[in-house]
Amino acid sequence: MTQWHKILIAMGFSVGVTLASMLAMATLTGEDIPWPFWAWGAACPALISGPVTYVLASQAEANRRLNRQLLATQSVLRAQADIDHLTGTLNRAAFYRSAASYDGDAPACVLLADIDHFKAINDQHGHAAGDHALRIVARTLQAALRPDDLLGRVGGEEFAVLLAGMPMELGLTIAERARSAIAGLEVTTTEGVPIALSISIGVAPLAAGAVLDQALAQADAAMYSAKRSGRNRVLAAV
Ligand code: GH3
Ligand code: MG
Ligand code: MG
Repeated sequence: MTQWHKILIAMGFSVGVTLASMLAMATLTGEDIPWPFWAWGAACPALISGPVTYVLASQAEANRRLNRQLLATQSVLRAQADIDHLTGTLNRAAFYRSAASYDGDAPACVLLADIDHFKAINDQHGHAAGDHALRIVARTLQAALRPDDLLGRVGGEEFAVLLAGMPMELGLTIAERARSAIAGLEVTTTEGVPIALSISIGVAPLAAGAVLDQALAQADAAMYSAKRSGRNRVLAAV
C-alpha cells in the first residue's frame, strides 16, 4: 500500500466517522443540522487526518528503510567477523564453529598445515613479505579444495582444513597436491627476491559423529611428525 493510499484511507475513515456520528446525533435529537455544519464536519477531520497521516506514514517508511539498511549492515558485519582479514579464509573461531557443526554421514578428514620456517621468512624478507606469503599460501590451499570444504587460519602461519565426506586416502592425495603446489610456487618480495616456501601437513580421519578436537589433535601430531622428519611433507595420523 502506498503512502497516498494510507492518507486517503485515514481521511475517508475520519470524515466517515465524524459524519456518521453527526447523523446519529441529528437522528437521536430530531434536530436539523444546517449544511455548513456538515461541510465543517467533513472538512475538519480531513484537514487534520491528512497531514498527520502523511507525517506518520513518512516516518514509518523512513523506519522501514533504516531497518533494511541495519539488516544489510548486520549481515555484512557478521560475515566479516568470520573472516581472517589477512588471508580471506575463515578465522579460527569460525572454522571451529563451522567444522564442529559438520554432520555429514560419510567419513571426512581434517588437515593441519603449517608453513615451514616462517619465522626465517619474516626475519630475512620482512613482515610485509611474510604477510604476502601467507596470502599466497591461503590462496593455493583454497584452490586445492572443493567449494564445500572448510579452510581456516587457525594460528599465525597455521591452517586447518575439513574435507567434507572425503576418505583418508583421497584426503592424503589432496594434501599432497596442495603441498606440492606450494613448494612449486615462485614467490618473490616486491624487490624480486625469491621467497622459499614450503608447508608441512598432518592428515587425520574424522569418522561420522566423531569429536572434531580429537581429529584435529591427531592431525596436529602428524604435522609435528612431518616437521621432525624434515618438513615439506604430508603425514597421516597413526
Ligand atoms: P616451523 O617450520 O617449525 O613451523 O618454524 P616456523 O618458523 O614456521 O614457526 P615459529 O612458530 O617459530 O614461527 C612462526 C612465525 O610466524 C612467528 C611469527 O612472527 C610469524 N607470524 C605469525 N603471524 C603472522 C602474521 O600474521 N604475519 C607475519 N608476517 N608473520 C606472522
Ligand atoms: Mg611454521
Ligand atoms: Mg606454527
